[in-house]
Amino acid sequence: MQPRILLSPPHISGREQTYVEEAFQSGWIAPIGPQVDAFEREMAAYTGSKGALALSSGTAAIHLALRLAGVSQGDYVICSTLTFVASANPILYLGATPVFIDSEPETWNMCPRAFQRACREWAYKGRLPKAAIVVNLYGQSADMEPIVEIANHYGITLIEDAAESLGAFYHGKASGTWGKFGIYSFNGNKIITTSGGGMLVSDDTDALEQARFWSTQARDTAPHYQHSEMGYNYRLSNLLAAIGRGQLELLEERVERRRQISQTYMDRLASIPGLQFMPEAPNCRSTRWLSALTIDEEVAGVNANQLLASLEHNNIEARPVWKPLHRQPLFANSTYYPYLKEYSVADQLFSNGICLPSGSSLSDEDLGRVVDTIETCIQNGRTVLNS
Ligand SMILES: *Cc1c(COP(=O)(O)O)cnc(C)c1O
Repeated sequence: MQPRILLSPPHISGREQTYVEEAFQSGWIAPIGPQVDAFEREMAAYTGSKGALALSSGTAAIHLALRLAGVSQGDYVICSTLTFVASANPILYLGATPVFIDSEPETWNMCPRAFQRACREWAYKGRLPKAAIVVNLYGQSADMEPIVEIANHYGITLIEDAAESLGAFYHGKASGTWGKFGIYSFNGNKIITTSGGGMLVSDDTDALEQARFWSTQARDTAPHYQHSEMGYNYRLSNLLAAIGRGQLELLEERVERRRQISQTYMDRLASIPGLQFMPEAPNCRSTRWLSALTIDEEVAGVNANQLLASLEHNNIEARPVWKPLHRQPLFANSTYYPYLKEYSVADQLFSNGICLPSGSSLSDEDLGRVVDTIETCIQNGRTVLNS
C-alpha cells in the first residue's frame, strides 16, 4: 500500500517555533497575551481591516458577528447553502432560523439574483432577515459587489464567512473585508492553521470591542467578578496565536503553492472529457484552498462516487463537494432559494463535484500519483462506456 495522501493537512514551517518560544519565555501561557495582540495587528494589516479579534474558532467568530448584528430568538438569517455546517450552526445558537440561498455557476458561491429574490419576498412579508452570511467557498470570493449593494439596500448586516478564503482577493480587496464583518478559521485543514482558532475582522472597532467583551465572559469593570450580560469563553490562547503568526508570514507562499497544484491538475487533466474545474471569477484571486471539479458521468464514463472510490482504493483522500445545507436533516423544512425555479446549482455540484488533495505540502510526486489515478479510473470508465 502506498503512503496516504491527505486532502489538506497542516503545513508547519518551523518559524512558528520562534514565536511559541517567545510566548514560553514571556510566561504568557494563557488566553490573551502579547502574541495574541501581535497576531490581531498582523491579521488586520494583512486583510486591510481596521481591527481584528482573535478567537477560539471560526464558528465562535460567526456567533459573535451574528450577535453584533442584533440577531436573536425568532429572527431570520440568510445563509449560503453550499457550505460546511459551521456557517449556519451559530444561527441556531441564537434561536434564529436560516434561509438558504443557492450558488451561481460562475463562482459556486451565493447567487446575487437568488439573494435579491429572497430579500424582496421577505421584505414583502415584513420579516426581513437581520443578517446574511455569505460563504467564500474553497478559496474563492463570492461576487461581493452586487451582494453588498443588495444588503445595503435592504439594511441587512453582511457577514462574510471567509474561513476558506484567507489570502483571496476580490477586485483588489481582501476576501473577508467586503461585509460589515468577516471571519477566518485557523482549523487544522485551512490554508494556515493554529491547530484551532479563528478571527473576526471589521472596520467597526467599537463592535469588535463589544465582541471582545462577550468573548471573555462579559466581565464588567469591577474589582470583583460582576456580570450584566451573557458572555462566552471564546478567546484564542497566546500559544496558538504564536503559531498563527509564524503561519501568517508564509501565507503568500501557501497561496502560490495551492494555485500551482490546481494549475497542474487543470493542465494535466485538460485532455480528459467530462471534467470541469471550479472556475476562477474574473478580477479575483482564488487561493484554490481546495482544487474542486465536477465530473459528467455521461461523457467521462464514471461518476463522482466511482472516482472517489478509486482514489480511496489508492490511499488518496478526496471528498465530495459540501452537501448543501437545505438538504441536511438538521435543516429540513427550511426555506431555500434555488438559482432558477427548476434548477439548483448547489444540488448539481453536490452530485457531481469532488475536492482533490490540495495541501501546500503536497509533493510533485504525490500530485502525479493523484493525476495518474484519475486518468486510469476514467480510461477504464470510458472503455466500459465504449464497449
Ligand atoms: C472551517 C469552516 C468554518 C468553521 O471554522 P472553525 O474554525 O472550524 O470553527 C466555517 N465555515 C466554513 C466555510 C469552513 O470551511
